[in-house]
Amino acid sequence: MSSSEVADGRVIEIEYTLTNPQGEVLDASEGEPLAYLHGADNIVPGLENALVGKSVGDKLDVVVPPAEGYGERQGPGPQGIPRTSFPADADIVPGMSFAVETEDGQLMPLWVVGLEADQVMVDANHPLAGVALHFAVEIVGIRDARAEELEHGHPHGPGGHHH
Ligand code: ZN
Repeated sequence: MSSSEVADGRVIEIEYTLTNPQGEVLDASEGEPLAYLHGADNIVPGLENALVGKSVGDKLDVVVPPAEGYGERQGPGPQGIPRTSFPADADIVPGMSFAVETEDGQLMPLWVVGLEADQVMVDANHPLAGVALHFAVEIVGIRDARAEELEHGHPHGPGGHHH
């Protein structure tokens, strides 16, 4: 395989615009490319699979169904948690997420979907669960990952992790 193609163990830089089926822009790189480690579950599977074998300069329009994106919506829907369960000085706004520990000790993310008088409404579904994702992508960089990046499972430097 050519070293200039998207493949496992390479750091891929992409410019992207993510829109929902209504055409609303949900996220965009806007000149600051996203770097991800291919094959390490850094991005949703439907997009990762569509990029395999592509080269720098390639542009793609990819529609990712929920099952290959953030999943289908599940569970009973939003639940209320007393505001008093949160630290008094916590700045709680819709869209934020936090982790709770389940009875079997797993960390589960919850997203704040609304605020009521004395309740915080939370949902275990990712905000984009159940949504078909339309990505307009351009590949702007491909390089082999460094050993440390493979070990961490993510790229370092511009567009990646800083630590
Ligand atoms: Zn790292």
